[in-house]
Amino acid sequence: MVTGAAGLLGSHLCRQLLSEGAEVVGVDDLSTSDGSNLADLGGDARFAFVRADVSTGIPVEGPAELVAHLASPASPPDYLRLPLETLRVGSAGTWHALDLAERWGARFVLASTSEVYGDPLCHPQTESYWGNVNPVGPRSVYDEAKRFAEALTAAHRRERSTDTAIVRIFNTYGPGLRPGDGRVVSNFLVAALRGEPLTIYGTGEQTRSLCYVDDLVAGILAVARSTLPGPVNLGNPAELTVLELSDLVLEVTASSSPVEHRPLPVDDPTRRRPDITLATTELGWAPLVPVREGLGRTARWMIDQGLVSPARRG
Ligand code: UDP
Repeated sequence: MVTGAAGLLGSHLCRQLLSEGAEVVGVDDLSTSDGSNLADLGGDARFAFVRADVSTGIPVEGPAELVAHLASPASPPDYLRLPLETLRVGSAGTWHALDLAERWGARFVLASTSEVYGDPLCHPQTESYWGNVNPVGPRSVYDEAKRFAEALTAAHRRERSTDTAIVRIFNTYGPGLRPGDGRVVSNFLVAALRGEPLTIYGTGEQTRSLCYVDDLVAGILAVARSTLPGPVNLGNPAELTVLELSDLVLEVTASSSPVEHRPLPVDDPTRRRPDITLATTELGWAPLVPVREGLGRTARWMIDQGLVSPARRG
């Protein structure tokens, strides 16, 4: 069972599990996705879609061997628009998913986030770093929901012997990213392909480390198939400033869009880069797709889907 099945990661995870012969139940309330990422799975007899808000309960009979709990708004504009819903899915939603995993005797994997590190004072971020989160700032609705979800997952493991794992997912992109997602890769690619200005928040000196979706899904499955409790960082350590990313996007899309600066969102982390030593040594996992190639694939996907018209390129 995959919660958040219609999202970028969820949809690729479902597709990968199906390609390996599994039967998959995907759950999503479609609050931050429209279901188009799952359209190609409609005719697959081994795939079932359940539209439900996991915060209020998960109407899946089961049992399942794996519960991958990905459900949550993940883009800053989405979780800032849905603050209470985000806190509820991280808390009550995770509670329901854990209870099912316990009942079914399933392996449970929580999709946590690099946001648990907040604006990190330790660089690159190791799993042992406890983070630097503003507990009452606007981003706390996401950061603290995920931190609570981690605490709940750890307690379930201790108190109920549920077979749990936590993965901390760093910025991920790829085909399936909504053009209106609001995160940097989506915004930059859409703007570049349309010949519109790329919006750089703040100076653009802040950094992120971007992982291609197939690599991330391989990491989630490696953790799911291991006995590691985590947390395990999953991400691509290739770190870029936002300005460097804007240059790369312009180059990959052969766009001459201008860049323009906008105010930096409150509590926007200054730098972010995963230390993936744990995943590499314990699981033999490492990302394979270079950022330039991944951005090219994502741009081509957007064009092929008719999501942006390259004819309007500047
Ligand atoms: N950002 C930007 N322009 C955009 C969207 C985002 O400069 O159009 C910046 C944002 O301020 C942040 C970084 O890009 O520093 C990554 O933002 P995103 O929303 O993708 O994810 P985050 O890592 O902040 O959750």
